[in-house]
Amino acid sequence: MEFLTNVASLKLWREERAGRPCVLVPTMGALHEGHLSLVERARQHAGPQGSVIVSIFVNPTQFGPNEDFDAYPRQMEADREKCERAGASAVFAPAVSGMYAPDRSVNIQEDSLSTYLCGATRPGHFGGVCTVVTKLFNLVRPDAAVFGEKDFQQLAIIRRLARDLDFAVEIVGSPTVREPDGLAMSSRNENLTAEGRSQAPVIYRALQLGRAALEDGERDAAKVRQLVLDTIQSQPLARVDYVEVVHPETLQPLDVIASQALIAAAVFFGKPRLIDNTYWREA
Ligand code: AMP
Repeated sequence: MEFLTNVASLKLWREERAGRPCVLVPTMGALHEGHLSLVERARQHAGPQGSVIVSIFVNPTQFGPNEDFDAYPRQMEADREKCERAGASAVFAPAVSGMYAPDRSVNIQEDSLSTYLCGATRPGHFGGVCTVVTKLFNLVRPDAAVFGEKDFQQLAIIRRLARDLDFAVEIVGSPTVREPDGLAMSSRNENLTAEGRSQAPVIYRALQLGRAALEDGERDAAKVRQLVLDTIQSQPLARVDYVEVVHPETLQPLDVIASQALIAAAVFFGKPRLIDNTYWREA
């Protein structure tokens, strides 16, 4: 496995593999089983002749001024070993200065899906995501890129980015990997206190209760939302950023649920802000 720390070495690596399949897995590092499942998915997609490249870059432009950019976990040596074991062909881990010119002045912005959910409480976040993913697509020129369904809104926005800006990159979604108690794996789980860690699985339990209500025939989105909200708030450390019941394609909040819905939540447990979602479709 190659470890590429700058754009020049990445370009060379890619030129040597021109004409062969290449699948990108963008990450911010502090890798866990969720990330590694994306690497495995990418490996299947690339085939035996193809390459899988994992980018590890804590992208400053997607963090707000009061967010956890400095506190975000960084563990490059361990990440490198995990990527190698999971079958990656290369890791691309540039420095911030290698990705952004000091006088950079062009950004990519998505104006519709980004107005809801995390976009509503993290202004500028998805602009930062779209800009860095555009740069990664231009640098790596992958045939496909794999993103997790845990970040459902991000996946929807990246699909829109690829469609609207004509990137010839297949966007592949991959299911959420969870801890045995249901908590969605996240690099931010490392920053939970013991108390926070013991309370955080309530997010998953609450989403499952909401989903069960939908399966039992509840179609009033406000009632489903309230059930999820009350369940999460039963834990003393939980500080809810949002709980929403939205249309899975437009991400617009629903009043009456028809045949499909996404229940999504973002909750602080102390400093870390955790997100999760569940998708439901009428059988
Ligand atoms: P991050 O490093 O948090 O930016 O995540 C990098 C990629 O891994 C994104 O596409 C995430 O959606 C995905 N991811 C993060 N956590 C999980 C998880 N628990 N299961 C599956 N994919 C995940």
